[in-house]
Amino acid sequence: MALVITGKSTCKICNKVMTEDDTLIMFPPFVANLKDPVYFFNDEAFHDACFQTHPLANRALALRELFEAATANRLCHISQKPVSAPEGGIFIPLITSDENEELYKFDFMCFDRNNISNWNEREYFIETMNRFKAEDKWRDRPGYEFFDRFLKNLNEPVIRFGSHLTQAKEIQPGFSSG
Ligand SMILES: [Zn+2]
Repeated sequence: MALVITGKSTCKICNKVMTEDDTLIMFPPFVANLKDPVYFFNDEAFHDACFQTHPLANRALALRELFEAATANRLCHISQKPVSAPEGGIFIPLITSDENEELYKFDFMCFDRNNISNWNEREYFIETMNRFKAEDKWRDRPGYEFFDRFLKNLNEPVIRFGSHLTQAKEIQPGFSSG
C-alpha cells in the first residue's frame, strides 16, 4: 500500500499535504501498465474527498477490490487451488482497465508456477501481449519490467522428465508488493 507520511506527503489531486485528521484512500501497486489511465492511482494516496471527484474513482475502486480478492485467495487459474507459497506463484497485475481489450480477462490472474506450462491460453496471451505492445498501449512502470520478464518466463522451454514437468530455468514471481 502507498506509504503516507502525514504532515508531509501530498495528495496527488489537490497537491495539499495530507494530515492525520484527513480521511485518506490508499492504493497498492496493482497496475503494471504505465499507459493505462488507472495507473494514476497505482501506489498512491489521496484525500477521500478529492478522490471522490475523480472521473475514474469508481473504476479504480472496483479494480482494487478485484486485485485484493485475487491476492488474498491466490487461486491458481489452472488448478483452481491456492498457490502454496508466495514464491511459488506468478501473479499478473493490471494490464488494462478497458473491458473491451482482449487482455482484460487476464488482469489479476494467478498461477502456480508448476502449472504454467499447462496453460492452454499461453500462446494466445503472448501473441496478444505482443500485439498490445506493438499498438503502443503498453509501457512498463519504472523499475518493474513486467512485460519482458513475464513473457520471458512464459517462453522458457519446458523439459520433460518422465511424468514431471520441470521449468528449464527458475521463474521469478511476476509480482512484487514493493
Ligand atoms: Zn486532496
